[in-house]
Amino acid sequence: MNREETMNTKWIAALLAAMTVSYAGAAQPEPDVVVFFHHGTQSPTVVGLAEVQATNMLATAGVTVAWRLGSAREQGHAEIIEAVLTEQADPNVRPGAMAFATLGVQAGTRIEIYYNRVRMNACDEAFSRVLAHVLVHEITHVLEGVERHSASGVMKARFAPEDLIQMRRAPLSFATEDLALIRAWSEKHNARLVAGLR
Ligand SMILES: [Zn+2]
Repeated sequence: MNREETMNTKWIAALLAAMTVSYAGAAQPEPDVVVFFHHGTQSPTVVGLAEVQATNMLATAGVTVAWRLGSAREQGHAEIIEAVLTEQADPNVRPGAMAFATLGVQAGTRIEIYYNRVRMNACDEAFSRVLAHVLVHEITHVLEGVERHSASGVMKARFAPEDLIQMRRAPLSFATEDLALIRAWSEKHNARLVAGLR
């Protein structure tokens, strides 16, 4: 696909998305990704803060996200991701990992976040920021569709102590290669959107 076709596809997709009418009757752009986040007994305020930050971080890569409660169901043409916050991770399961994404499946739970391990890396005040980074990291794995990590930014294999300190000031950004992979996902997603609505 050349640059012009890409632009056209994006423009048509944006136009179609803008024409999508919500249940309330107002025209609302359809999100690229809808995350059904099961956060158990965790405070909706803290989780809500993490969701807002994760939304803003993914927006820097051109991806729009909406967060939903309840069981996963189809939401227009959006990519559906189901995420579960597990209170207590089994210490023998993926030791040290704060979360895990299952790749290559189209339905069901795709992201599992281990609350106790995120908590170990974040005091009260920092928890929602670290959770936002963990969510963005795992959602990006699902979009990229490959098990890979970058040397810097939010797709680092492990967040070092200095990354956790940095998160308190400003969110970690995406490495150039992650922006390229996410852009490739967006182009495929928009092309499917256009094809599906023809
Ligand atoms: Zn990872």
